[in-house]
Amino acid sequence: MIGIVGGGIAGLSAAYRLQQQGYDVQVFEASDELGGLAATYETSGDRIEKFYHHLSKSEETIVEVIEELGLGDDLEWPIGKNAYYVDGVVHPMDKPWEILAYPHLSLYDKFRLGMLTLDVDVRGGVPKFDTYESLETFDDVPIREFVEDHTTRGVYEDFVEPLLDGKFGHRKEDVSAAWFLGRIKFRGERDVLRGEPLGYLRGGFGRLVDALVDAVGEENITTGARVTDLGVEDGAVASLTTEATTAPEAAADGGTTETHDVESVVVAAMPNVLEDLTGYECTIDFQGAVCALVTMEEPLTDTYWLNIGHDAPFGALVEHTNYVSPERYGGDNLLYVASYIQDYEEELWQMDDDEVEDLWLGHVEEMFPDWDRSQVTEFRLARNPRAAPVYERGYLDMVVPYDLADEVADGVYYAGMASRAQYPERSLNGGIVAGYECADRISGRKEVVRPE
Ligand SMILES: Cc1cc2nc3c(=O)[nH]c(=O)nc-3n(C[C@H](O)[C@H](O)[C@H](O)COP(=O)(O)OP(=O)(O)OC[C@H]3O[C@@H](n4cnc5c(N)ncnc54)[C@H](O)[C@@H]3O)c2cc1C
Repeated sequence: MIGIVGGGIAGLSAAYRLQQQGYDVQVFEASDELGGLAATYETSGDRIEKFYHHLSKSEETIVEVIEELGLGDDLEWPIGKNAYYVDGVVHPMDKPWEILAYPHLSLYDKFRLGMLTLDVDVRGGVPKFDTYESLETFDDVPIREFVEDHTTRGVYEDFVEPLLDGKFGHRKEDVSAAWFLGRIKFRGERDVLRGEPLGYLRGGFGRLVDALVDAVGEENITTGARVTDLGVEDGAVASLTTEATTAPEAAADGGTTETHDVESVVVAAMPNVLEDLTGYECTIDFQGAVCALVTMEEPLTDTYWLNIGHDAPFGALVEHTNYVSPERYGGDNLLYVASYIQDYEEELWQMDDDEVEDLWLGHVEEMFPDWDRSQVTEFRLARNPRAAPVYERGYLDMVVPYDLADEVADGVYYAGMASRAQYPERSLNGGIVAGYECADRISGRKEVVRPE
């Protein structure tokens, strides 16, 4: 049997692929819910993700899986409008004339930024078209140096820096130009006249998790079972031990641990779990996330993704029902308010849910004086200590290999947020690709290349 540690999208995808290749698998999930970071809430209509989710056009594997699992007709590509909030004004930023009308960058700044997003290097006056093809080239370059060199100081200070403040806080200087470049290339596909189509699964991505669970079979998935140990014999993984997390009465009887024989193990969880189980140390730093889902009687704006150009207690306002119709949610309007945490000592991470609600809704009231919190019918808060890697310089050297035979033991594989497939941005697609990469190495469909 192949043991899979973690029932998030990566673990379920690894299990699905391995089963297709004829293997006997068992997924062990520590919590009593499957889906990990893609877990959902109930609403008055469809379920919705606890953390905002959408797909980009460049992500292909997830689209193939959705189609394979019979959900292809429900994958929609609505336009998500983007805007930038500066000094009390919401500036739409999708269409060329909206960007031209944006008052906080000069025409020249906009030209340079535009050329960069189109992959054209105009430094030196002669346009070059292949400068940005290999992201790896920029993995060691500081983002500020890159943006100032390839566009202008104005672009960095008046456009990029406030976004970095919102996403990376005091870690912004550590982030690599490769992340930034990957991010603008990643999100780059637009319909020039309408904006950026973003993929959403009708009924929420929880349906993809459910479909994977159905395909893998509930009998091959154990929830409430935390993997606490891997047994190694003669340099190869031989067993996996779990501890029940949802049966306190069993704990009292001392009957909570179980050991299973395994041929291989895929650790599909955060790298700290890998370290606890194997001692493999990953040096990537992670950010935490605090994310509220606010249910409102009326819409707040007409924008899906609102970046904030000032020092707000949150990084972005993501109004889901300006992207997917409120009718799907019983007529309710749904707004995500989100902030990343660089340091667990930060005040926001220490606050209880009521304090966060008070702080955040108070700030939304300041930003939009015509709005007040009497609109709000529900405020739900999700927190996760490892919501995204900090894509700092030299990141690619820190990525955890899929096959850990040399580093840990034969038969130990890793598919998670620290995998290569989750670079330069973490995503559901990246989780699936990471799961597939491990499955294909186990089955020998992908050759394992070892350094000399
Ligand atoms: C705020 C936010 C916004 C996002 N936005 C998007 C987006 O717009 N589009 C997109 O595609 N992606 C987005 N993502 C990323 C996406 O959710 C993740 O990349 C993906 O869900 C990661 O899946 P995973 O299976 O690797 O990890 P996880 O989802 O973390 O799953 C790991 C699982 O392992 C379990 N586990 C941990 N330890 C053990 C143990 N010892 N034993 C057993 N089980 C264990 C955990 O409980 C968890 O269920 C977002 C994420 C966040 C937080």
